[in-house]
Amino acid sequence: MGQNVNQLAFAVGALTGLLCAAIASAVVLWRRRPREEKRKQSWLEHYDATPQAVFAQWPTTALVLDPGTGSVVAANPAALRSLGYSIEELQKLPFTDLFSAEGVDATALVGKLREATNREPLEMRQRSKDAAQRNVEATCYSLMLAERQVLAVAVHDVSVRREVETQLLEKHQELDHLAHHDHLTGLPNRLYLAAHLPDAIEEAKKNGSVLAVLFLDLDRFKHINDSRGHETGDKLLKTVAQRIRSTMRSEDVVVRMGGDEFVVVIKRIKSTDQVNDAAGRINHALSAPMVVDGRTLVTTVSIGVALYPHDGITMGELLRHSDTAMYQAKDRGRNNFQLFSQSMDKRLKQRIAIESSLRTALQSNQLDVHYQPIVDIETHKVVALEALMRWKHPSHGYVRPERFVAVAEEAGLIVPIGDFVLQRAIEDMVRWRQMYGALVPVAINISAVQLQRSNLAENISRLTKQHGLDPKLLQIELTESAVFERRAPGAREASQDAVAKLRELGVHIAIDDFGTGYSSLSYLKRWRVDTLKIDRSFVRDLVTDMSDLAIVSAIIAMARHLHIEVVAEGIEGWQQLAKLRELGCNYAQGYLFARPVPAVDCARYFAGTPLDLTQRLPVLDKLEATQDEEQVAQRA
Ligand code: C2E
Ligand code: MG
Ligand code: MG
Repeated sequence: MGQNVNQLAFAVGALTGLLCAAIASAVVLWRRRPREEKRKQSWLEHYDATPQAVFAQWPTTALVLDPGTGSVVAANPAALRSLGYSIEELQKLPFTDLFSAEGVDATALVGKLREATNREPLEMRQRSKDAAQRNVEATCYSLMLAERQVLAVAVHDVSVRREVETQLLEKHQELDHLAHHDHLTGLPNRLYLAAHLPDAIEEAKKNGSVLAVLFLDLDRFKHINDSRGHETGDKLLKTVAQRIRSTMRSEDVVVRMGGDEFVVVIKRIKSTDQVNDAAGRINHALSAPMVVDGRTLVTTVSIGVALYPHDGITMGELLRHSDTAMYQAKDRGRNNFQLFSQSMDKRLKQRIAIESSLRTALQSNQLDVHYQPIVDIETHKVVALEALMRWKHPSHGYVRPERFVAVAEEAGLIVPIGDFVLQRAIEDMVRWRQMYGALVPVAINISAVQLQRSNLAENISRLTKQHGLDPKLLQIELTESAVFERRAPGAREASQDAVAKLRELGVHIAIDDFGTGYSSLSYLKRWRVDTLKIDRSFVRDLVTDMSDLAIVSAIIAMARHLHIEVVAEGIEGWQQLAKLRELGCNYAQGYLFARPVPAVDCARYFAGTPLDLTQRLPVLDKLEATQDEEQVAQRA
């Protein structure tokens, strides 16, 4: 007992020493204060007694341990309160009954404490007498007092802080999950991919393996969304996401990029067969019908694949190239997959360049309209003019429409461009009427997208009313694909509706480039077409190629039977003209008569007189055309 008392006195001294150090520095600071204030320090006269008092009142646990056994030698009142034991009980308990540390064996705990002296605090769990547990941090000091070494331990309760930290961590993880996952499908999202793909590329680089990036885009999803509503569209996307996920291995990453686009990353590819298999599995999984809201929906997917390192070594390249290959898959009839090839990239770059300068062209008046006469094959009188769009590129000269119409269609630019041509043609007609007091009908080329998407009939009706023009003076030229091809469900019906409205207005309907597409009799009847324009490719070799001759004569005979008029396009020579007249063709158009010219050069077409061809040699015509249009177009 006497020894215990001694130990206690000694330990209290040790801890008191600890606290003294802090107090002493405070005293030093205090003493630096001005002289007159020193009088107020009378309580410091009890300086020797103060550390004991501070130790007794110190609000957090302070313990003194025997560094050899780890047993408690002394504890301050706060320690007794917190642990719930008397000092006598504490002195009998092994330290490891009171504290434990994660990952530290009980036998090693005191050793760990010794190691932790003067370093980072040691995190421990404190177990008090009532079995309550709390998280604490212990700061240890090895002190020499009266030639005896002790371990002074200051313990802080960090339970509340830990709890807050845990909650914050959970919140952070939740936010992190939300930020990196798509809320609709639960799949990782674009941000996740941006974080994951560079790591996957790095890994592939390190171990010399191949990595595949698959870019998926649902076919015709927009149609389902538009026709069945967004809710159904969302449910379909969820099912699609589940199906894609379930066809892939757990280590493959499946990401929803947004809308109906998904990306799959497959690591450690052994052969292209493995990619083919994966893409085939996805195509197969999605091709089975899906029941959404009681309706059976079918959707297919187009997939483009880019491989690291063959097709790109950065995330940007791999995504861009897989996207390019995906478009190629769509072009090839959808519901299939394509591996990227360098030639695709070249085409894409060209397409992007054309698209961006076309947007500028629209805004900065680089578009123009030229006119080419269509003549009566017998009398050579002008019966109509065809409006042909021209793009006067600031550095490439005239760019012909065949080089940019397809791009304009894909980019959705064909609608504003088509509106421009329509408006310009009507304005030119009004000007001609003012200047020459006469007019001939004008034929305008309309692409499928424009026919289905723009309010063509409404626009024509408004513009002709506004300018006091008879809509019968307008002809619309549609290609066979525009009216016949089923690009998207409902497209043919949309075209048919638009054509019916145009007919109601009295607009004349012509089928352009006839013979190159479906050449179906049934739609000619159903759509009540007024004119067929035989494609230039049949006219070109008409005189030398027997099969072209057979086709052209069959078209003319059929049209005559259906009371449809026929225009032959691209007549360049006298022999072609003679043959077509012999076959009973009604109208002719081609460089033999005139090449397309600007509106200001059209005066002679309104005189009502036959075109004088005597001065015009076809060879010259051809040369002119070559210089003015074809060569310039090629340079572009
Ligand atoms: P298209 O409607 O069949 O127009 C006839 C094309 O043949 C024109 O080419 C014309 O310049 C060319 N051509 C006429 N006679 C001859 C000839 O004797 N020999 C040769 N080698 N060519 C001749 P262009 O102007 O390059 O137009 C190409 C196509 O672009 C047009 O074919 C039409 O499908 C489309 N297009 C033109 N303007 C527009 C437009 O405003 N909107 C839309 N959507 N398409 C247009
Ligand atoms: Mg045409
Ligand atoms: Mg044509």
